[in-house]
Amino acid sequence: MFSEDVSLAPYTTLGIGGPARFFCTPTTPAEIHIALVEAKNRALPVFVLGGGSNLVIADSGWPGLVLRPSLTHQVGLTIGAGMDWNDFVDHCVSQNLAGVECLAGIPGTVGATPIQNVGAYGQEVADVISSVTALDRQSLEVRTFSNAECHFAYRHSRFNTEELGRWLILEVAFALKENAAPNLTYRDLIHHFGPDASPTLTEVAATVRQIRAQKGMVVDPTDPDSRSAGSFFKNPLLRTSEAPGSAPRFVQPDGTVKVPAAWLIERSGLMRGETLAGGIGLSSKHILALVNQGGGSAADIIEAAKKVQKCVHQTWGVLLHPEPIFVGFSGSTELPEGATVISPA
Ligand SMILES: Cc1cc2nc3c(=O)[nH]c(=O)nc-3n(C[C@H](O)[C@H](O)[C@H](O)COP(=O)(O)OP(=O)(O)OC[C@H]3O[C@@H](n4cnc5c(N)ncnc54)[C@H](O)[C@@H]3O)c2cc1C
Repeated sequence: MFSEDVSLAPYTTLGIGGPARFFCTPTTPAEIHIALVEAKNRALPVFVLGGGSNLVIADSGWPGLVLRPSLTHQVGLTIGAGMDWNDFVDHCVSQNLAGVECLAGIPGTVGATPIQNVGAYGQEVADVISSVTALDRQSLEVRTFSNAECHFAYRHSRFNTEELGRWLILEVAFALKENAAPNLTYRDLIHHFGPDASPTLTEVAATVRQIRAQKGMVVDPTDPDSRSAGSFFKNPLLRTSEAPGSAPRFVQPDGTVKVPAAWLIERSGLMRGETLAGGIGLSSKHILALVNQGGGSAADIIEAAKKVQKCVHQTWGVLLHPEPIFVGFSGSTELPEGATVISPA
């Protein structure tokens, strides 16, 4: 059931990454089980791939098995991990189910959304996930996590922190509101619709996609600025005293303030569209995205990310942490500070 020596670059939105020694696309939980047992018997490290939209994969690739679950079942609002996220959003808005309309246009699979608690335009999946069912990759036991047990926070869950790489998500259950009004809290949406408008969920989802497209934030083969991993840096959560006085700030429940990383980068001497290293530069539409301008490598990404971190740190004294997950790098690679890493060892 394994293909051999499969280039991973075409499976990522950055178009970067060396080969997987073995690759498989199981379509049922039973096939996933068999693949994991086989990998264990052959002592192969396993990496679980979704839509490849939040990854920097090493130029040397992955020396074991890359498993891409293709579970696309739907039972009510319980959705297989391999379903395309945008297909799910379209289904929800067409059924008048509110709660994910502002998350239209985010690439990837349903199963990856809980990993970093995807969010945009005033919504995040933590608000609407009721449970996540996952397979423990070691014990092969299946467990269902309630929303509280997922430990969701900004770009954070148990799946990308204390238990990174432990669970293979099989399905996600959502609790959406029937016939409820769309979420119109985000500045760009208020500006677009005006204060007294009452757009439908479908109109909000379409508008979010339109605004995102203007920023190169929907994957579009005709837009070179969308050859990215989306926002490359998380918005830093700072103590009030650490936040630059002039920066916009959003107070968090724990008293810290969230400062837009894009604001900090834009005022650190860097320019949209600028090439930073090899084939990697800043998007010409949105300074928060690192873009593969052509022929870029993972090594270029690392160099470019470090440059951005250095400029922002020198200007503002703030360290930006990368948002994508770095996959397949050996311990000797000096990755950008704060990077989340899944390594084969
Ligand atoms: C143009 C663009 C715009 C974006 N905009 C946003 C945005 O607005 N907001 C936002 O939050 N993100 C955004 N992203 C980032 C990305 O789309 C999301 O993080 C998305 O959820 C990643 O899904 P994926 O299926 O591509 O996962 P991948 O990139 O393939 O994997 C990401 C992580 O999830 C793990 N994973 C994937 N599937 C499973 C599974 N079934 N079980 C266990 N682990 C799994 C992988 O091992 C990896 O650690 C954007 C990316 C791009 C390219």
